[in-house]
Formats: sequence, structure tokens, C-alpha cells
Amino acid sequence: KIRVRYAPSPTGHLHIGNARTALFNYLFARHNNGEFVIRIEDTDTKRNVEGGEESQLTMLKWLGMDWDEGPDKPGNVGPYRQSERKDIYLPLIQQLVDQGLAYESYVTEDELATQREAQKARHEMPHYVDEYAGLNADEKAAKIAAAKAKGVQPVIRFKVPVHKKYEFDDMVKGHIEFDSDSIGGDFVILKRDGMPTYNFAVVVDDHLMKITHVLRGDDHIANTPKQLMIYEALGWEAPVFGHMTLIINTKTGKKLSKRDEDTLQFIEQYRELGYLPEGMFNFITLLGWSPVGEDEIFNQKQLIKMFDPNRLSRSPAKFDAKKLEWVNNQYMKQTPSSRVTDMVIYQLIKAGRLPADPDSKTIEWARTLTSLYHDQMSYASQVVEESEVFFNEPPKLDEAALKEMAAETAPTVLKTFYKLIQNVKIFDATEINATIQAVRGETGVKGRQLYMPIRIATTRASHGPQIAEAIELLGREKALHHIQVTMT
Ligand code: GLU
Repeated sequence: KIRVRYAPSPTGHLHIGNARTALFNYLFARHNNGEFVIRIEDTDTKRNVEGGEESQLTMLKWLGMDWDEGPDKPGNVGPYRQSERKDIYLPLIQQLVDQGLAYESYVTEDELATQREAQKARHEMPHYVDEYAGLNADEKAAKIAAAKAKGVQPVIRFKVPVHKKYEFDDMVKGHIEFDSDSIGGDFVILKRDGMPTYNFAVVVDDHLMKITHVLRGDDHIANTPKQLMIYEALGWEAPVFGHMTLIINTKTGKKLSKRDEDTLQFIEQYRELGYLPEGMFNFITLLGWSPVGEDEIFNQKQLIKMFDPNRLSRSPAKFDAKKLEWVNNQYMKQTPSSRVTDMVIYQLIKAGRLPADPDSKTIEWARTLTSLYHDQMSYASQVVEESEVFFNEPPKLDEAALKEMAAETAPTVLKTFYKLIQNVKIFDATEINATIQAVRGETGVKGRQLYMPIRIATTRASHGPQIAEAIELLGREKALHHIQVTMT
């Protein structure tokens, strides 16, 4: 039975890249009627943040994923937090020490730093230098005793086999080979604080949790050799690995990085802006994976059905915020207006444009506002950005608007519209449309030159919602005021 896992470190919010990892594991599991496990990798205690785990799980659920086992849903192979599994790791580390496959190391951080500096100066890759090289048993014992006397806490290092070839078939990258000499020497498996390192814990957990496939980001590919060595030392069979390519920010052309400050990268931020989880889910699956054919819009059920890891791309995935907007708009259009209205109301309240507890008339008004933007909307807070004129004084005309207004006929059109609209009995879209036609009759101006001045004067947008509907919602008083401000 296929069993996969998503193994976040609770170091912050759910990043787009991690969400993708989770999602492909999820799809792979569900496609194969397998099992999806969540494991919290919190052995790096300095990096853990308060609430990090909860935020990860909440966002995974928001995106529409569920799991079969996890810290909140214990199965038979728990606990599902590494910090609670020390009793499992420590005997295995001892076993390796007893077998001579791992040993206590007393080199201090300072000594290691000095070594690395020297290696760098010699243009060598940083590597651990055997601290007991050339010592006989007595000399070694003396060296250890001296370190202990100084109070140095040891770490446990794994003894990397010398000049040995390792290989594996990566689900994404194909056949990979490496030499054991290339990984930087004996590496730490138990830290001074008594916690195992990631590379050790991950092997133990994946084995004991019966994980069959490890699909993760290719920032981990350098760890895979170390993990294979540990599998070998413990006499276990390694799972199948698949390393997904990195994600490139189309804005910078470089690896998507948390330092790209103008690119939102956390799922929570998108939720806050009023993106739909279904749209995000679909968009994320397109980061480094592609369905057969041209279509890109598929719901979760369809994606589960069609997911094929052979279609994970070998070239970097492109993160394009514009595409995300497009995808999400496809979903917005299909979303019932009641749900979209709720989302918009939430945003308007947050922006201080509606009272925290709107009355039914206000809600009705917001429903109409939403309907004006619904089909063009990518995310709910866009309405806040674009509906400024409904709440505040109309902003100054921008360059594009000024150009439209420069048309010779614009002043006549506006003046006529201003005059006629005052006498309209029922101020609704039908009457407003009729008025626009009347303006046409009176001035002889039609098409763009008729609509644009009216549109820009009232709503300030050269494209946007249906003009008559927008003017109705604006109300007579505001509409007149906006035209007046524009004409003077
Ligand atoms: N805890 C690791 C991370 O957050 C996951 C490593 C793995 O999937 O093996 O990057």
C-alpha cells in the first residue's frame, strides 16, 4: 500500500513551496488509494515557532487536504512529532555506536569553524576532518578524556563509508549516483542537545511509519545520500525518492525566496486577500506538474483522478502571480454569489468601509456591489481596491482617463447626461441606460465617445462593472457629484 507523508518543520507559516510538496503527496496518495501522513519535524528546537504546527495544519485543511494520520489524528505508528520520539531514536543511535558505525565526536563548534575557514582558503569543499586520524587506542582515549575534562559535550557522528558508490532512481530526476567521499565526511546524527539530526530522524520515521515514497523539494537532494547510508547501516530498505524542482519567481527570474518581499508566498496571505482555496489548490498543482492536454482548470476530484507523478516536470516551476489571479478568477466565476458576497463583506469590514456588524440594508447593498465585480474578480479584496468611488471622493483622473476626456465631444456628453439624469424618476439601471440613449439622441455622439466620459466621470474606471448598474449603486447624489467634480 502506498504511504506518503508531508513532514513540515514548524518554523512558520505554510509557504507556497511546502504547500506544493504537501499537495503532490496528497494527490499521489489519493490517486492510488494510499495513505497520507503528516509528521512534524521539530528537532531543530531553535527554529520552531509558537503556533507553527497549528498554522501549517490549518492551512492544509483550508486548501482542502485531509490526512489519514498526523499529530491530531494518531494512527499505529506515532507519535507524529519528532520531539516526542526520542525514545525511539536513541536506542538506534546506540546500536550504531555499538556496531562501530557511529562514534562520539568532541570537536567543538569553534574548532569546526576554524577548519572550515582553512578549507575555504585552500578552495576545498568544507568537510569534517577525522579528529582521531592517526591516533592509536591510547592516544584516542587520552584525547577524549581531555575533552571531557574541559566539559565538552560530544555529538554522535555517523561513519561515512569510504569511497563507496550509492545510487537511486529518482521519480523526477531519474537515475542518480554519487560517491560517499563527496558528502563532506562523517556527519552528525545526535546533537549536543540530545536531539537527533533531521537526516537521522527522517530515516527512522520514514521506515517505522512504513513510508513507501518520499516526494519532496529538491533542496533536500543533497541529504538523500546521507539518508541512504543510514538506511544501509540500519539494515533497512529505502523508500522511493522523488525530488521536485525548485520554484522560480517569474518576477525576479530566480528561485522563489522568502526575501522576495513584493511576492506573497504564504498561503495565509492569500487567504487573507480573499483567494479561494479551490483556486489555490488548482494553481499549486500547476507548479511543476502538468495535466495532459491544454486545459489547466481542474477541480480537486479531477486532479486526484488524473494525477500522474511521471508528469512532474524536470525543469523549474514558474511562480507567476498573474496566472494565480487568472486561475482564481476562473473559480470565482463559478462560485455562488452568496459565498462571494460574504467574502467581500469580510474584506470591506476589514478595510473599515462597512461597520463590523452591517444591517440588512448594508448587506443588500454589498451584495449588489459584489455582483458588479463578481465575474472579473480574482480575489475578494480586489473589490476594496476597485470600489473606492463608492465610499470616498472620486480620485483625480489619471493619464488614461484624461486622454478619454480629451475627446472634443466629452464635455457635451457629460453636461447632457448631468442634465437628464436629474429628472430620472426611478434611479435604476434601466432608466440610466435609457438616459444614456437619450444623451446619444440629443448629442449625436455614440459608442466609446458616449460611454467613456460617463463611465470615467462617475466611476473613474475605464473598464470595470456594467456602467448603468454601477451608477445605480452609486446613487443619484454621488453620481451627480462625481460628474460635477469632473467637469470643473
Ligand atoms: N522537515 C523537512 C522540511 O520541512 C522535510 C524533509 C523531508 O521531506 O524529508 O523541509
